[in-house]
Amino acid sequence: PTRGAPLLQVDQINKRFGGLVAVNDVSFNVKAGEIVGLIGPNGAGKSTTFNLVTGLLHASGGRVSFNGRDIAGLPARAVAHLGIARTFQHVRLLPGMSVLENVALGAHMRSQQGFLRNTVNAMLHLERVEEKALLDEAARALHRVGLQHLMHEQAGNLALGQQRILEIARALCCDPLLLLLDEPAAGLRHLEKQALSRVLQELRSDGMSILLVEHDMEFVMELTDHIVVMEFGAKIAEGTPQEIQRHPAVIEAYLGG
Ligand code: ADP
Ligand code: MG
Repeated sequence: PTRGAPLLQVDQINKRFGGLVAVNDVSFNVKAGEIVGLIGPNGAGKSTTFNLVTGLLHASGGRVSFNGRDIAGLPARAVAHLGIARTFQHVRLLPGMSVLENVALGAHMRSQQGFLRNTVNAMLHLERVEEKALLDEAARALHRVGLQHLMHEQAGNLALGQQRILEIARALCCDPLLLLLDEPAAGLRHLEKQALSRVLQELRSDGMSILLVEHDMEFVMELTDHIVVMEFGAKIAEGTPQEIQRHPAVIEAYLGG
């Protein structure tokens, strides 16, 4: 996709859980090569929106299209296959395995199009050629995020900021067009946030598109090109960081929430 062309188009999606409208007629776009922030108070519907985009949940109504294809209703593995990768709100690593193995396992699980019951066993049973290809791909992903020097370190020994970047490397393994990051800066120290921000800016200059949920306003304002604000399931504002910072509805949602 050419930089600036619409990559992800979310069009009036809805999600109800029983009587609760978790996502209410929400529309927004992510253009190729852009970093979009999705912000809003707890319970606003941000994670549900992510789950609707990635196929973990299916919308009660509305349309989602990605790279020119209608993806609403597709299972998560099909969406991943089309080029949408994600990280989760909480770190999901195998702490006793190396950084490289953690990334390779992510790639392997994706190539199997599903999660294996016993990933360690699966790793041991891989054909050697296949294993070599996976490890090469994992090493490339670690280079892209600047973690190559920690390749042989145990993942559990990494600082939280490095673990978050490791998860991004793992998401990069299937060559996605769009990365969805759920609160990547949560709990990080100032310097770790800066390092993470640099990694994401670097990916953007390589043409990657990113949609991120994040509570840290300073981080979001510095990094994103466009911001979508949700409250009580609905989109209440969108615009550039400058526009959002002085938007009355946003100020109210944050001071009131
Ligand atoms: P956010 O990520 O913005 O904090 P969520 O998308 O997690 O918000 O949740 C939006 C609303 O939907 C909340 O009221 C939450 O309690 C509700 N919700 C989320 N997931 C479910 C579910 N699986 N079943 C029922 N209610 C849910
Ligand atoms: Mg959430």
